Amino acid sequence: MTITHPALDATRRTVTACCRVARSIQRDLERVKAITKDDRSPVTVADYAVQAIVALDLLAVDASALIVGEEHAALLRDPQQAVVRDAVIEAVQRIRPATSADEVLDAIDHCDHDGSAGRYWTLDPVDGTKGFLRGQQYAIALAMIEDGEVTFGIMGCPNLPRNQTAALDHPDETGTLYTATRGGGAWELSGDRETAKPRPIEAAAYEAGAPVRVCESVEAAHSNQSDAARIVEALGSTSHPVRLDSQCKYAVVARGQADAYLRLPTRKAYVEKIWDHAAGYLIAHESGATVSDITGAPLDFGHGARLEANRGVVCAASALHSDLVRMISELGVGKPKG
Ligand code: AMP
Ligand code: MG
Repeated sequence: MTITHPALDATRRTVTACCRVARSIQRDLERVKAITKDDRSPVTVADYAVQAIVALDLLAVDASALIVGEEHAALLRDPQQAVVRDAVIEAVQRIRPATSADEVLDAIDHCDHDGSAGRYWTLDPVDGTKGFLRGQQYAIALAMIEDGEVTFGIMGCPNLPRNQTAALDHPDETGTLYTATRGGGAWELSGDRETAKPRPIEAAAYEAGAPVRVCESVEAAHSNQSDAARIVEALGSTSHPVRLDSQCKYAVVARGQADAYLRLPTRKAYVEKIWDHAAGYLIAHESGATVSDITGAPLDFGHGARLEANRGVVCAASALHSDLVRMISELGVGKPKG
């Protein structure tokens, strides 16, 4: 068996190319910072360049494609941002040389769909911006949503080692790609050999009483780390969380390296964005993991650009998932006041 989907070959080429672009910008952090005189600008350049390339490629296949993307080009159209804009255009033209400056900006702006159509793409061009800036993990995440269901997802993890014994906080030379189709399983793809055969991946078969391997955000503002430790302790396990940025966490569960990915709300008003979850969710779901919000309700992608009906995420080996949700409820976790 292998994976088949009409969008797979083209999006695999696109995401592989985008991983190369993002990696080359990440290698050049200091030069970009020096030109733009702004510490965050390398990730800004990578964000916009990847969004432009993905949109240009999707529109080349289907001129009517709708895309819910994280970025908008308004900032790049500001004359004061000319240096950043030129760096974005240069990064895009390196791999799509026939593209004009206007086409780059228009492609970025094309990703402003609100998620109200029956079928659309959602894109996080650089998920885990903090990881990108630290030289650690980040992801390029693209998914298709049809009638409120994620039906296809592909995620480039440019710094994620394929070898599961390698340290996760060091950038890998080639990185890894993950993909899934609804009902078609979850697959690992080579980060550099575009023709290499996909390898099926499976979530861990967790056994009751075994230590719980949890992954969570590096950024304490994005997930409550002390609540995660309380949950694991209440389950009788010692907490040694693996912390990494971005949706790579879903892939780490999907390939059986961790038993759970916990995203526990830190702010009452925060609502998760679809581009932060759609691709990773499908990859984890198709690997056999169970994915829900902190109440155990399925993630509901039928509310436009945000997961309005959900709070937080519990993604775990199926044999562990219900215990985690029960413990969250018993401990009263995930109800921040502010
Ligand atoms: P991670 O790398 O898993 O920590 O997630 C990065 C994502 O967290 C970013 O893409 C943001 O959209 C998202 N984010 C920003 N603020 C919050 C918050 N208060 N709670 C949860 N996620 C957040
Ligand atoms: Mg993101």
